[in-house]
Amino acid sequence: MNAPELETKLPKVGTTIFSLMSALAAKHRAVNLGQGFPDFDCDPKLIDAVSVAMQSGHNQYPLMAGNPRLRERVSAKFESIHGVRYDAVNEITITSGATQAILSAILAVVRAGDEVIVLEPCYDSYMPNIELAGGVAVPVHLKHGTFEPDFDAIAKAITPKTRAIIVNTPHNPSGRTWTRTHWQTLADIIASRDIFVISDEVYEHMVFDGKPHESAVCVPSLRDRTFVISSFGKTFHVTGWKIGTVCAPAPLTAEFRKVHQYTVFTANSAMQEGIASYLADPKPYLELPAFYQAKRDRFVAALASTPLRALACEGSYFVCANYEDVPTLRDLNERECAEWMTREIGVTPIPVSAFYSTPTEQRTIRFCFAKKDATLDEAIKRISSLV
Ligand code: PMP
Ligand code: GLN
Repeated sequence: MNAPELETKLPKVGTTIFSLMSALAAKHRAVNLGQGFPDFDCDPKLIDAVSVAMQSGHNQYPLMAGNPRLRERVSAKFESIHGVRYDAVNEITITSGATQAILSAILAVVRAGDEVIVLEPCYDSYMPNIELAGGVAVPVHLKHGTFEPDFDAIAKAITPKTRAIIVNTPHNPSGRTWTRTHWQTLADIIASRDIFVISDEVYEHMVFDGKPHESAVCVPSLRDRTFVISSFGKTFHVTGWKIGTVCAPAPLTAEFRKVHQYTVFTANSAMQEGIASYLADPKPYLELPAFYQAKRDRFVAALASTPLRALACEGSYFVCANYEDVPTLRDLNERECAEWMTREIGVTPIPVSAFYSTPTEQRTIRFCFAKKDATLDEAIKRISSLV
């Protein structure tokens, strides 16, 4: 008997741009400023904390919602930063990374035929996740050139079928951040509608120039309808560990956990216990803005002596650059430009067009500056050969 035909549920999905560009970077021995991950190690104290957790028996299933001590610490940390309390028992869940948290939130909220507004460019998992839930992704572009939210376009995109909106701040790929005014404007637009907010705040501790990270819940009325999602992978330089958090009011958390329970059940125990211990000291995350700001400043200042034009970067570990003034590059589309730079000068960026669902070209590429200073300096040396 022949195998049954498997009709794809995700016809538009192929290999992610991150994997493609990392493979190309390896092939050409290019400096990889493409895929977003640090090329330096985490704090040895964090490794010690996880080792101690393993050696002291944290090796079986933890509670479905996550290690209670970790949830307490996440609750205390959130309250100390934002002045908003989430109950560790009923309102905080530990996940296998933010990607799983986003999928589970979408599966919990989105019903067949529901529309979800997605602000493009965006992290590449959102749209396929919505489709898997049977929903319809409604892309609304951030303003071209500045990546500011276009609230008129958001308001126009709302229909009776709109079930949720996904916001990401600090933003991947642009490096822009949302202010309290942005959140208030969104809150006003959706106030009289049954619309949930999925707020992807994985870069919460990478906001620069003395500004605070404005979480969705900086507007009190948004708390009741919002899932706030974060990732220790970003905060502690351990993207491979895949431990995330979701803060949401109890009724939303209850539905979230129904999905979480039957997708992963729980996240791995030793990492959770180790992170719980490590979180006793707030210094590592409080020092993170300065740590990454120094890298942004080093890279952006050096880019100024190249023909690339850096765009505003207020947060995250990404900065975008425009290449329309570079004669060698300006006739290439963004994907061609990223491939050309990898091959010809040995530096790998990510094309911003990859973060859109329909062809959108702005002569803009994204660099990840979560790299050792020596890596950034080598990249700049190579970029300087551009004419
Ligand atoms: N959201 C955004 C905006 C991201 O850039 C990433 C990083 N890959 C994630 C979510 C996923 O985080 P995690 O690795 O914890 O799944
Ligand atoms: N979020 C990372 C980035 O934008 C990549 C994560 C992944 O490879 N899926 O580069």
